[in-house]
Amino acid sequence: MSLPLRPSFRDIPLYSPSKVKCGVDLSDNTNLFGVPPAAERVLRETAASLLSRYPVGYSQDLKKAVAAYAGVEPSQVTTGCGSDDVIDSTLRAFVEPGEAVAFQDPTFVMLPYLSKVNALRAAPVPLKPDFDIDVDGLLATGAKLIYVCTPNNPTGTVASRGALERLVDKAPGVVLLDEAYAEFARESHLDLAARPNVLVARTLSKAFGLAGMRVGYAVGHPTLIAEVEKARGPYKVTGLSERMAAAVLFEDVAWMKARAAESLAIRERLVAELQGLGLKTLPTEANFVMVPLPGAPAVAERMRQRDVNVRAFQGLTGIGDALRIGCGPWPMMEAALTALREALR
Ligand code: PMP
Repeated sequence: MSLPLRPSFRDIPLYSPSKVKCGVDLSDNTNLFGVPPAAERVLRETAASLLSRYPVGYSQDLKKAVAAYAGVEPSQVTTGCGSDDVIDSTLRAFVEPGEAVAFQDPTFVMLPYLSKVNALRAAPVPLKPDFDIDVDGLLATGAKLIYVCTPNNPTGTVASRGALERLVDKAPGVVLLDEAYAEFARESHLDLAARPNVLVARTLSKAFGLAGMRVGYAVGHPTLIAEVEKARGPYKVTGLSERMAAAVLFEDVAWMKARAAESLAIRERLVAELQGLGLKTLPTEANFVMVPLPGAPAVAERMRQRDVNVRAFQGLTGIGDALRIGCGPWPMMEAALTALREALR
């Protein structure tokens, strides 16, 4: 018997970056400098009773912690199972099936994926040659939801403040600004969340070192937040994740900032070494570096054989093949550089 599966789902591949077990894994831009102390404490002290009951519906305690960290009101905050979930809910909240969602190209691979899953029309708009967003191109799509990632994954490059302001001023609908890497960047645009048509999404998976707990959030006008929460539904953040994330946001901001600073210093050393090998690097404000390199997938495969996992991309718009190398403690970078030198030979 053939089941009546959705025809539009037939060609959707599962999200599957190469996750071969490697001693050094620089493939996902997480914090490789350890676990925030408050998270370890919560793990030790949390009573088992937390496990058998539902958490509070829409993560009210976590909203308060995010609000304190972001300097906004809890009514301006929504949370989710990672910012993947926040982005997914935002797409469903503001775009009807069949309508367009616009985003810069290249950007976070989940955007084309979530567009397909939600039956939306993806409208990718190439980055400009200087890696800024193409505001007129994004506006010309007429999309009711425009997604901009800055610093952008996978390029590490940023959108300029002027371009962002012009986009927000002129957009016919909602602008979703993904600041997953804001804690590493020179400039944050969280203040734009005060506008009536802007949501700023962030995560605890990167600088805060809690990727395994799956906590993301967005800040915006309460009217927008209420719409996102309709799409989100209750209980998206587990009780343990909520407690841990709240503790980390209240207690470990200094820990996070110190690790982020360390990561940036290492990134500068890494960039110098890569350039010393004659490689090009894109200007980055994130905790990773993009290296345009023809044949990057094969190079990454040879690096994996040498126990180092970096992310490879093929045929990126305007860039071509490229490696994306995350930053961790320097011994990991040395291992990566050794593997890269050998892989390039
Ligand atoms: N946005 C960007 C730009 C990312 O790189 C990532 C992580 N790969 C996410 C969102 C999602 O992060 P999470 O779901 O772990 O919060």
